[in-house]
Amino acid sequence: MVYFGCHLSSSKGFFAMAETARRIDADTFQFFTRNPRGGKAKPMDEQDAAKLAAVQTAGVLGPVIAHAPYTINPCSMEERTREFALQTMTDDLLRLEHIPGNFYNFHPGSHVGQGTEKGIELTAKTLDAVIPEQCGTTVLLETMAGKGSEIGGSFEELREILDRVRHPEKLGVCLDTCHVHDAGYDIVNDLDGVLTAFDAVIGLDRLKALHINDSMNPCGARKDRHEKLGQGHIGLEAVIRIATHPALQGRPMVLETPNELDGYEKEIKLLRERIGAGL
Ligand code: FE
Ligand code: FE
Ligand code: ZN
Repeated sequence: MVYFGCHLSSSKGFFAMAETARRIDADTFQFFTRNPRGGKAKPMDEQDAAKLAAVQTAGVLGPVIAHAPYTINPCSMEERTREFALQTMTDDLLRLEHIPGNFYNFHPGSHVGQGTEKGIELTAKTLDAVIPEQCGTTVLLETMAGKGSEIGGSFEELREILDRVRHPEKLGVCLDTCHVHDAGYDIVNDLDGVLTAFDAVIGLDRLKALHINDSMNPCGARKDRHEKLGQGHIGLEAVIRIATHPALQGRPMVLETPNELDGYEKEIKLLRERIGAGL
C-alpha cells in the first residue's frame, strides 16, 4: 500500500491538518513550514505537535512532509541569500523535532550562473550546516524540472549532493512526477526504465516520498507547471502505474495539483477507487 494525501494549509496547526486529512480520506499530507514568501514561522505549539504525533503513533496517519519555503535558495551566489536559507532550514529542522519520524522536503536551489558544480557544492555545504547531529527528521531533496539554473533536474545531480554531505544517511529524495517528466524522464512510456535509472544512480532505498502531479507541458519541457490528475501530459493511467508500482509501495504520495480541498478529495477518491479495482 501507499499513503495518499495532498498539500494542506498549516494556518490552523498540525492537528487541524490531521483532521482535514482524515475528512478527505487522506492518510498523509504536506504543509509549508512557514509562509512561502519567507518570514517568521509561528511559535511552535507543543501540545498541537504532540496531538499530531499521537495520531501518527496510533497508525491513523503515515509519515507527513514538511515543505521548506520554495523561495529560499541554499546555493545562491549571494552570501546573504544563502544565510537566509541556512537560518530558515535550521529553524525548521529544530521545530520538526517536535514531530519526529517525518520528512522535510526542500528544493536544492538555483545556481544562477555559477554553474551546476558550484551550486551542488553550496547546497551540500548548507545541508552540512543545518542538519543537527541528533535529527529525528529525514531531509528530502526534491527532484526538479531543471527550469532555468535549477539544480536537481537529473538524478546524477542529486547523487552528487548526497555524495558530498557529511551525513548522507539523514537524507532521502522526494520524486515529483511533474518535475521528473518535465526534466525529460519518460515516466509515461518507460516508467520501469526511469525507476531503473533512479535505482542505479541514487538507489530506490533513498526514495522516501513522491509528489503526484500531472504536467501542463510535454516531457522534457523543463517548465514545472502542475496540472490536475488526468488533465495533462502524464495522464491518469501513468499515475495509476506509479501508485501501484511494486517498487514504490510504502511511501507517502502527495498531490500538489492545482486544486482546492474538494478537488483534492476527488482525486484521492479516484486514486483509491482505481487502486481498489486491482489495476
Ligand atoms: Fe516542491
Ligand atoms: Fe513538488
Ligand atoms: Zn513544481
